[in-house]
Amino acid sequence: MDEELTVESRIAPPSLSCPKCNGLLPSGLGEIECVLCGAHVRTDHEPTRTKWMNERISCPSCSKVLIAGVDHRPAELRCGGCEAQFTLTAKVVRVEIECPSCHRGLRMIQRPGQRMIDCPACSTTFKVSF
Ligand SMILES: [Zn+2]
Ligand SMILES: [Zn+2]
Ligand SMILES: [Zn+2]
Repeated sequence: MDEELTVESRIAPPSLSCPKCNGLLPSGLGEIECVLCGAHVRTDHEPTRTKWMNERISCPSCSKVLIAGVDHRPAELRCGGCEAQFTLTAKVVRVEIECPSCHRGLRMIQRPGQRMIDCPACSTTFKVSF
């Protein structure tokens, strides 16, 4: 049985907005498609590439600390210690928002567009957009 090993990168590229519709672009570098207007945008950010290259991660199988050595995410890596293959995935960007009714802080994954949120504390439904 092969189970999929993944490690989430801790380094996110900067949040960029679409030059066409000014909405939030999905997190990533390279050719990105705006989910709001469909525009294709080329993004790059050298400091993020450098940080990705030098990011230290621990092998999900043997916990040995490795240097990623690749400047893109996701990336397929192989551990030099135990030979396990795993996927280094892009960081999932989470943001904290505040419920407009009870002011409780809610952590959520940042995705472009509008979403309805149900506050788990006071059950108020409200709209967020990025
Ligand atoms: Zn757009
Ligand atoms: Zn290993
Ligand atoms: Zn609330």
